[in-house]
Amino acid sequence: MGKVILTGDRPTGKLHIGHYVGSLRERVALQNEGGFDKIYIMIADAQALTDNAENPQKVRDNIIEVALDYLACGLDPNKSTILIQSMIPELTELTFYYMNLVTVARAQRNPTVKSEIKMRNFENNIPVGFLAYPISQAADITAFGATTVPAGEDQKPMLEQCREIVHKFNTLYGETLVEPNILLPKNSACLRLPGLDGKAKMSKSLGNCIYLSDEPEDIKKKIMSMFTDPNHLRVEDPGETENNPVFIYLDAFCKDEHFKEFLPEYNNLDELKAHYQKGGLGDVKVKKFLNNVIQQELEPIRTRRKEWETKTAEVYEILKQGTAEAKKVAEQTLHNVRSAMKINYFD
Ligand code: ATP
Ligand code: MG
Repeated sequence: MGKVILTGDRPTGKLHIGHYVGSLRERVALQNEGGFDKIYIMIADAQALTDNAENPQKVRDNIIEVALDYLACGLDPNKSTILIQSMIPELTELTFYYMNLVTVARAQRNPTVKSEIKMRNFENNIPVGFLAYPISQAADITAFGATTVPAGEDQKPMLEQCREIVHKFNTLYGETLVEPNILLPKNSACLRLPGLDGKAKMSKSLGNCIYLSDEPEDIKKKIMSMFTDPNHLRVEDPGETENNPVFIYLDAFCKDEHFKEFLPEYNNLDELKAHYQKGGLGDVKVKKFLNNVIQQELEPIRTRRKEWETKTAEVYEILKQGTAEAKKVAEQTLHNVRSAMKINYFD
């Protein structure tokens, strides 16, 4: 079967630096290292509709935005297959069969879904599709025989649920599906990048983001007004670095080389943190440094994005071809699934 990656994003907005450090940066690295036989990158529009049913236009508009972000970050359609979920109806059919392998209680126990229900005020009116989206995610992953899913920490319960479905399916109907593993970022700051407002997660739905496509002056404004340690009022006060988003972003982005270039009085992040903890280092100075680091990282991405923005017809063609190629693989998996379940009446 080989080593296969499946991962993706919901087209609910442009992609942000949380996506970048949580999954996108790793995908591009894995793609360029060439250690995988196949890489599928999915724009999960059907999943986005599970909590945006009243707004399909938003989902439609963001398909191209997400695709542009992918290409801007260096995903290469010659090495990775980019596909649109809803254009592969086999995924929906797989979901329908897998639903029978999951109890309502189990679906309700998924901690990521639980917190998203709260965040969306869905408590008393959860769409069935929303509760079931991890099952549809299991269909996406298994349809392509994925062995590896590079994703942020919020996806851990999804992968757990997927593995349970695979196990149950294979036990009931015979060895058919591949059990996937999540690939989390090695750097713990990247597992769940907090929002600019200090909230636990930078998220499109919360609007507390630095987008990959933001202009330099917007990035600067956002960084300079970021949440930091609320008790670090004066420069001489000792400050906390641990739950401080400014330092978490530095953990996620900065390298020793950045100090030589932008802040030569320190050798590395440990020294900067020690000074902040001791007192005598102001937020403005740290934020200016963070701004330089992030600007440097995002500049080439923004430039490439602007080039692709002039060629959207080509981008749609990439999506169309990627989807057609992926559909063939999903058809084969569905065929195997139906055979295993003995619902292949006319074969
Ligand atoms: P939505 O609010 O619509 O759910 P989102 O910002 O959570 O959007 P998704 O499309 O759900 O983004 O997530 C896509 C991928 O990015 C997943 O692998 C997820 O783990 C990762 N990811 C999203 N937000 C973060 C974050 N703040 N830190 C690290 N990884 C993240
Ligand atoms: Mg999400």
